[in-house]
Amino acid sequence: MRPQFPALLRHFIDGAFVDSAATFDNVNPVNGQLLAKVCEADRATVEAAVAAARRALAGPWGAMSVQQRAAMLHKVADGIAARFDEFVAAEVADTGRPLQQARTLDIARAIANFRTFADLAACANSDAFEMSTADGLGALNYTVRKPLGVVGIISPWNLPLLLLTWKVAPALACGNAVVAKPSEESPASATLLAEVMHDVGVPPGVFNLIHGRGADSAGQFLTQSSGIDALTFTGESRTGSTIMKAVADGVKEVSFELGGKNAAVVFADADFDAAVAGVMRSSFTNSGQVCLCSERVYVQRPIYERFVAAIQEKVAALRIGYPDEEGVDIGPLISHGHRDKVLGYYRLAVEEGATVVAGGGVPVFGDARDCGAYVQPTVWTGLSDDARCMTEEIFGPVCHIAPFDEEDEIVARVNDSKYGLACALWTTNLSRAHRVARRIHVGLVWVNTWYLRDLRTPFGGVKLSGLGREGGRYSLDFYSDVANICIKL
Ligand code: NAD
Repeated sequence: MRPQFPALLRHFIDGAFVDSAATFDNVNPVNGQLLAKVCEADRATVEAAVAAARRALAGPWGAMSVQQRAAMLHKVADGIAARFDEFVAAEVADTGRPLQQARTLDIARAIANFRTFADLAACANSDAFEMSTADGLGALNYTVRKPLGVVGIISPWNLPLLLLTWKVAPALACGNAVVAKPSEESPASATLLAEVMHDVGVPPGVFNLIHGRGADSAGQFLTQSSGIDALTFTGESRTGSTIMKAVADGVKEVSFELGGKNAAVVFADADFDAAVAGVMRSSFTNSGQVCLCSERVYVQRPIYERFVAAIQEKVAALRIGYPDEEGVDIGPLISHGHRDKVLGYYRLAVEEGATVVAGGGVPVFGDARDCGAYVQPTVWTGLSDDARCMTEEIFGPVCHIAPFDEEDEIVARVNDSKYGLACALWTTNLSRAHRVARRIHVGLVWVNTWYLRDLRTPFGGVKLSGLGREGGRYSLDFYSDVANICIKL
């Protein structure tokens, strides 16, 4: 499948595509070939985008009713659907993910993000509180939602359009104008989104797109702009910490969705086959490059040996290959830089005493893919809980499987982490499911499933995994200023 985006990816500011002098390369992780040049925004370009967003708030966008905005966002969803295959091709070209995943997850969810937040905002209610007063006449309080203003959005490469639109859609539904910076590794689908915004008539300046890297580039300049009112970010915990410092002086609102070192816990009473299939999904989807992936797998001792053998067999059967190959399970990592990081952990695990049950290296294809960023899906056993490979986020197709005995023990071991994003529990004991789920200190617990998402539910992490919640009304709360109006009767 040929990507259908231009040879130069431009910024989109105030309703028009604009160049900048500096550019960087967008490289195909399947074969290391150049896909496109990408404009890199300097500080002045970022400030032009912020100024355009500010002007848009004072224009027709600011005067629209929430129903009119919702109708516009449905048009954006229609626009993505009309160019579905182009979006899929762009996402696959940037990331090398299996075509099937881009179709069923990435682009489908981007469309759903616009539809869901359009409808939620249009149907949102406000709160009312009647109160009594000493004179007996009382007072009425009610809340109104107002836009925050200009929202800066910085997103990562692992689910590029899905995660970008997860923030753009609710921000626009709530009446804000946005300046969005996608990851430098995955700029293509965001550029197509700008075309759709333009074509369906989103007013100039409402959606602005700037390309560039993070530090000393567009990302940092956006966080340092005094013209933004809020900053919403998905990416590494360390970057979140840097951004928090950058916006601290302006006391900007922030929402952070950050890294994880998630656990999957398989009790001996679990449906064995379902648990094996579930752990395969939660460890190897998108080559392990999903913030929710489980890199720590704990299996209760009576079924431990059998479980490790079953995972070993399934991993051996995974198909590593070209994104558009029929039945391919595993694509490359996002870049050679990320591959170096993951391979560093593959070496470290052996130094830390791991037994390599599967993988551990680089596949050899004998074709152009040998210039790509592939690694073998990998399974370890035998590491201690405090090994670096057990405590640091690796973000590759890798998991460690360890045995456990007791419920209290496993709750303590799962919670003994700097991160707290997600956990998957596998058990047929209903009481145990409820009991353990609420004791795990994370933002998201799945029982007998993984990554099953209702977009109305809260999404986010605790500890190093994030700050705040998005999803459903939690997004509406973040992307609005809620004001209380008190009327003395
Ligand atoms: P990253 O933090 O390196 O980059 C994310 C974005 O931040 C990119 O657009 C980058 O250009 C920008 N950036 C980097 N440094 C910056 C700076 N100093 N100032 C401003 N912007 C800066 O993350 P990544 O490698 O792109 O993504 C992978 C990480 O994202 C993993 O840790 C993963 O767990 C996390 N993630 C979390 C969630 C979640 O919902 N919790 C979802 C997806 C990914």
